[in-house]
Amino acid sequence: MPVILGTNKQKIVPLVPIREGVVFPHVETVLSIGRPRSIAATEAAYKTDKIVAFITQKKINTANPDESDLYQFGILARVEKLIYSGKTGMNAWVKGISRIELDSIEAQRPFIVAKVNELSEVIEDSPEIKLLSKGVMDNFQKLVNLGKSIDFLTITKLMEGSSPNELADQVAYILNIPTSEKQKILETLSVKDRLKRVLRLLVEELKVLSLEREIETKTQGRFDKSMRETVLREKKKAIEEELGELGGEDNETKQLEERIRKAKMPKEISSKAQKELKRLANLNPAHPEFSYIRTYLDVLLDMPWSLSTPNKTSIQKASRILNEDHHGLKKIKERIIEYLAVMKLKEQSRKSLLKRNGREPKEVAGPTILCFIGPPGVGKTSIGKSIARSLGRKFIRISLGGVRDEAEIRGHRRTYVGSMPGRIIQGIKNSGSNNPVFMLDEIDKIGSDFRGDPSSALLEALDPEQNSEFSDHYLEVPFDLSKVMFITTGNILDTIPPALRDRMEIIHFAGYTEDEKFQIAKKFLWNKQLVAHGLKSKSIKIADVAVLEVIHRYTREAGVRELERTLATIARKIARKKAERKRIKRTVIKADVVEYLGQRKYSETLAEKKDEIGISTGLAYTQAGGEIMFIEALLMPGKGNLLLTGKLGKVMQESAKAAFSYVRSRWKKLGLKKDFYKYLDVHIHVPEGAIPKDGPSAGLAIALALISAFTKKSSKREVGMTGEITLRGRALEIGGVKEKIIAAHRAGLKTIILPKDNKKDLEELPYKVKKDIKFVFVSHMDEVIKLALNK
Ligand code: ADP
Repeated sequence: MPVILGTNKQKIVPLVPIREGVVFPHVETVLSIGRPRSIAATEAAYKTDKIVAFITQKKINTANPDESDLYQFGILARVEKLIYSGKTGMNAWVKGISRIELDSIEAQRPFIVAKVNELSEVIEDSPEIKLLSKGVMDNFQKLVNLGKSIDFLTITKLMEGSSPNELADQVAYILNIPTSEKQKILETLSVKDRLKRVLRLLVEELKVLSLEREIETKTQGRFDKSMRETVLREKKKAIEEELGELGGEDNETKQLEERIRKAKMPKEISSKAQKELKRLANLNPAHPEFSYIRTYLDVLLDMPWSLSTPNKTSIQKASRILNEDHHGLKKIKERIIEYLAVMKLKEQSRKSLLKRNGREPKEVAGPTILCFIGPPGVGKTSIGKSIARSLGRKFIRISLGGVRDEAEIRGHRRTYVGSMPGRIIQGIKNSGSNNPVFMLDEIDKIGSDFRGDPSSALLEALDPEQNSEFSDHYLEVPFDLSKVMFITTGNILDTIPPALRDRMEIIHFAGYTEDEKFQIAKKFLWNKQLVAHGLKSKSIKIADVAVLEVIHRYTREAGVRELERTLATIARKIARKKAERKRIKRTVIKADVVEYLGQRKYSETLAEKKDEIGISTGLAYTQAGGEIMFIEALLMPGKGNLLLTGKLGKVMQESAKAAFSYVRSRWKKLGLKKDFYKYLDVHIHVPEGAIPKDGPSAGLAIALALISAFTKKSSKREVGMTGEITLRGRALEIGGVKEKIIAAHRAGLKTIILPKDNKKDLEELPYKVKKDIKFVFVSHMDEVIKLALNK
């Protein structure tokens, strides 16, 4: 509710017309007054009651304004002080008091005298006004923060807090707006409307100002950068001149030219490099393209176009080195030696054809690709390294695990910011040789999605028929990969894209028996770890029982990686003792192992537990190699439903259903009632529930677990089995036998049941395994029941 203070009073006062700008009540300011009549009016006021009227004129150029040339509204002000400058100039320090409305002009000379109506202040107070005032105040502060120049007095006055009236007038006064806008604010008598108007204009000004500031900093930044670059470049030039070197950029071009000459690239690639160099020379170094081309040229010139390590394939030497570095793996070593021999023959025939025909013979393709498949830690990488060593070639290794983007293999086109060559070309570049042994790990873990299929790019790189012209998107020119010896590795074969699999020669690493692990630890790993921990090779022995303790109670794996890591822990503890100058024993014994490693990790072998009803022992083949797995079947009241858990894949689920149907159809033979399952639900679970399992090979074991559960006869835990089952109970051939049997041996199984057709797979088994385990070959489930079910 507006409150009106006082009444409208009429006054006769000296009047000073203002050419530009508007003075507001509450505002204290200094006005410079130039026109003689205005000076006279101000002086007259100063000498009497100090009160003077200021009214802005409508047009800036009117020299002697009349009543009609002035706006209707103005203010009354108090002249606080007069300051004279020069001969004619005068400044008046004035303080605005109140709004006035011009009534009439009473006299023109010696100065204007006017009759005015003084308008009373309208004081309003409402939440809306408070809100508007706050808005104005906040934005005013922002304006100050952005560095608008406002006199200190106004700022402190406003900061100390003033009435909404005062606030609106003060802020209106400092706003950067045309006179006509200011006049409108002066004429707005409602405080609310005045605040609104001020707020709107304030926000607009704020926007403009912040934009200006932004542009300023940007240009300043740019200016600074280019300034700096110019200065630096000048300095560089000066230094080079001082040192008597060539001009900087010229020098760089010369160096690149030199490198192109020395790189011994194929002709077309060298001319491509020249072309790029020309582009570079014409560019300003500040241009973004400059650094792209520069980087590209670096990559191009760093490629080992004609750098290769001499080819010296000596079969005897290779054989010696492979044996030197690895225990066991006899068959694998043999296959590798054969492979190297073929490679050597091919190379010889290529050379003689080249000599005879004077061109690279197309009919002799490069070597096929080796692919090592097996669980972690079985020596795939280290065999690869040995091959490189025996051939005297460089060794590089990249991992393809999780690669889903074709561009990771083949690179990004140069148009992309931050583009790079693909991993293959990078690998070759880093090796610095065009005929390294190049190992591609985890080939079974590449994926494909919308970003393209990396396997097709890989195919091109690996295929001996087409890899002499491998094209990388970044490199743009073909690179000859035909001299590279590629070896790929993976844990399982199934997930490798078939097209890739067909191109490769697969070598399986089945995992080690306990005995082999023991030998590897004694002969290789222990000494290796001593040296790795700063101890002298062979300076400390490890007792056989200690090694066996580590193998049995601290590791459970197909390879020897965990074993190596555990031995490393022991070596580290010894090294620490030595560093602390404590006494160390010359031999690590079994008791020391417990001291160094703490609690045993594995208490007993899996097969050592006792026989139970509804549990059978199956053999599985996973990423980590062969494994034994216990299959549990449990009966509970229900309606003949089958429940399957343990992350079983589709094939395995179907296999479980087939086994269930088989058991149901065999009720008579098994001595069960006709509808024995009708009021029971069956739950089949395969523990280690988080690990995905699939494949048909658990069929026999599932059927046995079910039969054991229904007949309430326990099954023999130490009898392991693997084999697919048909609806009629026939046992069918399965894969991964070698790995599974080695795992079964590790777990201490005594008998293994296999389908008849898998007999052939036993050939490659280590002698010790064949000796320790009894193998039984079956063609039907009935035989399994006889062998594995307790009476
Ligand atoms: P993978 O590549 O199959 O995962 P690695 O080649 O990395 O396995 O082998 C793990 C460790 O075990 C390496 O230190 C390796 O030298 C050692 N190793 C594996 N197999 C043998 C072996 N047959 N003889 C000697 N050391 C071996």
